[in-house]
Amino acid sequence: MKLKDRVAIVTGASSGIGRGIALEFAKEGAKVVVADLQEKPKRGKYYDRDLATPTVTAIEELGAEGLFVQTDVAREDEVRNLVDRTVARFGKLEIVVNNAGINVPGTSETMPVADWDRVLSVNLRALFLTSKFAIPHLRAAHYGRMIHIASVHFRGGSSGPPYAASKAAVVNLARDTALEVGRDGITVNVICPGFIETPIQDYMTPAEIEAARQRTVMPRFGLPRDIGRAAVFLASDDAEWITGASLVVDGGYIAAI
Ligand code: NAP
Repeated sequence: MKLKDRVAIVTGASSGIGRGIALEFAKEGAKVVVADLQEKPKRGKYYDRDLATPTVTAIEELGAEGLFVQTDVAREDEVRNLVDRTVARFGKLEIVVNNAGINVPGTSETMPVADWDRVLSVNLRALFLTSKFAIPHLRAAHYGRMIHIASVHFRGGSSGPPYAASKAAVVNLARDTALEVGRDGITVNVICPGFIETPIQDYMTPAEIEAARQRTVMPRFGLPRDIGRAAVFLASDDAEWITGASLVVDGGYIAAI
């Protein structure tokens, strides 16, 4: 087991990619704190239409330990509480996966300023908050892995103004934090997923989904477990000398010029 008895927080882990990461961590022996707005998994229009089992229940069915902490990652007090509850329950914190993210489609002309602020709060500001409260515990544990989930949209547009901007910013935030904490053996890395089958795709039209299918080089879309396996690698001893890096996991979506 690559993460035996490691203690991990995964944000946005009730649904989609975060759930996939939490379950792969559990299979590798980690104790996983599921941080999300609600415990029930989200049911999507296209994907996870029948999902009902909360992530912690699924973790326990795998023989591992889990804890749900209701958290809005955009709120400072709730992120502080998340870290405190994790350490109170499991005695330490070693891995943080900043996965919670939202996309509000629109254009610069039509999008309300409040929507821009909301996307940036969840997709970017929250990563500063988890770093602020988690890093002291990672140092104390003498083992630290921070993993941010960005997107292939770190590299280009087409997803609306705040989403692409926030995902590019996450890549550089990780590099900056990596410089802060590297001397203590803590790594900070980014995973940039391509099209993954989750409820976040509800805003897309069937024609847009077909276009993404054409662009994905591999013969299937990604699944949450594909990102989960990459996260296990970055969270494990195998990746101890990788930091400030971004790993594109996209089935070839951005391989073509
Ligand atoms: P998802 O299916 O919508 O799941 C996201 C989860 O995060 C949901 O459970 C959601 O809760 C939760 N969440 C939203 N806002 C939150 C907040 N303020 N505090 C705590 N939890 C919050 O999305 P996903 O596809 O798994 O996406 C996960 C991450 O991967 C995001 O950062 C996304 O940008 C990134 N990503 C996804 C894809 C893809 O193709 N799926 C591609 C590239 C990058 P509610 O359901 O209650 O809103």
